Amino acid sequence: MMNKQQYIDRAEHALYKIYNRFPVVFDRGEGVRLYDTDGSEYLDFGAGIAVMGLGYGCRELNEAVKDQVDKLCHTSNLFYNEPAISAAEKLLAVSGMDKVFFTNSGTEAVEGALKVAKRYTFNKEMGQDYEIIAMKHSFHGRSLGALSVTGNDHYQEPFAPLIPNIRFARFNDLDSVKALFNEKTCAVIMETIQGEGGIYPATEEFIQGVRTLCDEHDALLILDEIQCGMGRSGEMFAWQAYGVKPDVMTVAKALGNGVPIGAFLACGRASAAMEPGDHGTTYGGNPLVCAAADKVLELFEEKRITEHVKEIGAYLWQELEKLSARCDGITAHRGRGLIQGLEFSTPVGPVVSNALLEQKLVLISAGSQVIRFVPPLVIEKADVDEMIGKLERAIQEVKRSVAEA
Ligand SMILES: *Cc1c(COP(=O)(O)O)cnc(C)c1O
Repeated sequence: MMNKQQYIDRAEHALYKIYNRFPVVFDRGEGVRLYDTDGSEYLDFGAGIAVMGLGYGCRELNEAVKDQVDKLCHTSNLFYNEPAISAAEKLLAVSGMDKVFFTNSGTEAVEGALKVAKRYTFNKEMGQDYEIIAMKHSFHGRSLGALSVTGNDHYQEPFAPLIPNIRFARFNDLDSVKALFNEKTCAVIMETIQGEGGIYPATEEFIQGVRTLCDEHDALLILDEIQCGMGRSGEMFAWQAYGVKPDVMTVAKALGNGVPIGAFLACGRASAAMEPGDHGTTYGGNPLVCAAADKVLELFEEKRITEHVKEIGAYLWQELEKLSARCDGITAHRGRGLIQGLEFSTPVGPVVSNALLEQKLVLISAGSQVIRFVPPLVIEKADVDEMIGKLERAIQEVKRSVAEA
């Protein structure tokens, strides 16, 4: 086996330089632990950015995927396949939505959701309502449509002009949404819990108010559940705690537990908006990835994941509250279930992440001032305790090095 630096040199030579990666080469995983090519063990609180809900090396899932590889990987959407039917039925059962379209990624799920909104208004009045309201500090993906509704100037600027007629409101500020609504508004898109923007859950008043505004204007409410969905908030989908229902919702990340699959789902009037020929994908919803999603959904039910998340999420909350009281420099603590964030008074997020890697803990930041806790959903209290100990040491270390600088 090569040493770490050799891998990194080869990677930097061959791969397009688009990421600033941590200097670690992961080799394998088991449960909530990752192992690098040097054999070091890491406790993982990042889950590959909220993907590995069931953790690494999940036996039953691996078996299901292996069986499907041997049976049939791909046929195209010109034909039906059994795993897609089964996965779709399970997804509808846990969401209460009416129709599913499988995609290859989160950003493609967002593209599809935006097309549903456009198609809906086209059916109604030939596209006269063409404005979409999105949120500042949101994240919906990197393809051009999803980027158009991502409220981040830094991501958007080099790729302008993007889709026109997108208006940005302030998340959790209902008046700012109200001020943008007019007769041309066809949809509002937002994350139920903003992830990349720094872990901001929608307030009940906000999400219910937006729902009402959408109803009054016959506009679609699109909720992006790509990061906060699939059990992470303690509900299967985060909106289920708010007494509202979206017209369209997007899901990806934990849906395939590492196998790339996403979906958009629609209900009611939105579920009939698209017609044959309006959209398509070659890979999307193929038997291989759907066998994974189907098994993931089965295991979520069997392992009562949402109940576990509620319990461990409450414990994580309590321990992070205690830690915040012990360490100065922590200015806020937000989140639900196993999607939580700690905000620092200064932009030390990436520095803390680096210090934690030294201690063999994977913990990612969300923006420069927030560290984000999105572990595998199967973590236990002892893992939380271990993480807290390492985090506290890292915070002290960063404080010392800042004081010395
Ligand atoms: C990660 C993410 C996306 C994009 O998903 P990709 O699979 O990376 O394209 C979209 N929306 C939210 C809320 C996300 O967290």
